[in-house]
Amino acid sequence: MRYSDLTLDREGLAAAIACEDAAFEEALREEAYRVKVATIGPEVYLRGLIEVSNICVKNCLYCGIRRGISCQRYELSEDEVLATAQIAARRHFGSVVIQGGERTDAAFVRKITRLLKAIKSFDTGEDPPLGITLSLGEQSRDVYEEWFDAGAHRYLLRIESSNPDLFRKIHPDDPLHSYDRRLQALYDLKEIGYQAGTGAMIGMPFQTAADMADDLLFFKEFDAPMVGMGPYNPHPDTPLTISGAPYPSAERRFSLGLKMIALLRLLMPDINIAAATALEILDPCGREKGIMSGANVIMPNITPAEQMIKYNLYDRKTLNASNVDDLKAKGIPIGFSHWGDSKHFRRKELD
Ligand code: SAH
Ligand code: SF4
Repeated sequence: MRYSDLTLDREGLAAAIACEDAAFEEALREEAYRVKVATIGPEVYLRGLIEVSNICVKNCLYCGIRRGISCQRYELSEDEVLATAQIAARRHFGSVVIQGGERTDAAFVRKITRLLKAIKSFDTGEDPPLGITLSLGEQSRDVYEEWFDAGAHRYLLRIESSNPDLFRKIHPDDPLHSYDRRLQALYDLKEIGYQAGTGAMIGMPFQTAADMADDLLFFKEFDAPMVGMGPYNPHPDTPLTISGAPYPSAERRFSLGLKMIALLRLLMPDINIAAATALEILDPCGREKGIMSGANVIMPNITPAEQMIKYNLYDRKTLNASNVDDLKAKGIPIGFSHWGDSKHFRRKELD
């Protein structure tokens, strides 16, 4: 396939995803980078990632911290979360992401509310104060509202796959893991006023090029102001890996990961696209390559090292805490001290 043949409809996207021609992929990534710089500028925004806990009530078949897996569990104390958020403030990251396993018990919900209020009251000496994104799974609308009122303004909840059949294959078949509920949660977040980010895993068992094209069209249809997609990385002890269902090679999943970023940038030029941590498992420069393919957000992991290794969604032995310095060395400008909201969301607010 030649780059000049690319079309951004379902058929064209699926053909681009299926195409393994290196020259095509390179031309696509270069064009996506060009579109990004022309539309939103070359700056990369940072979110200090705080993995608050690996305790989870869910049992997603691909995840290394699912309820049914035996692993050492942890939960950061409130003081630890606040000290970690201070690191992000001191390093002028502008924003933090609080991510963790899904829990809906009242003690957890109230703890997050207290943390949000405490982080919002940090005196960073900067304007605006630290921005906060949450990524804590599906919650009731009331809880989403409570957290929004306490100061969270962005929420990441991946649809994982926009194909309900594939969604069913990678989750247990029970009401806790329902495609419709997940979709409802995304619409709740949007209605409440969050910048509701979503995303998908790329290169999973059973997933076709058409499924991935549909994921991109789903993000467009949902009008997502931010998207975080990353390659699927098998964890040895999960049912999906143990089932032996085939999935693309590491090399192919990596190139698919970059290609999906590039295609999404062409489809939605002014949104925030994260270069996901999962890229780095497959290539030590994975996140930088994500930026060079059209992504504009990086989430340096600032979780205390002792707990970071227990947040084992997939095998991630090679994880770097941060490659901010590498980016700076390459001359890529970093948007320090900004929330780095997507231009897309800002523009809609003005409409
Ligand atoms: N519990 C929350 C947030 C933590 S999980 C939630 O599920 O939304 C964050 C993301 O990790 C998930 O959305 C999923 O896409 C990703 N993830 C989990 N297991 C993975 C794996 N084996 N490979 C790649 N990504 C994975
Ligand atoms: Fe829990 Fe999220 Fe992992 Fe699912 S993907 S088991 S909700 S941490």
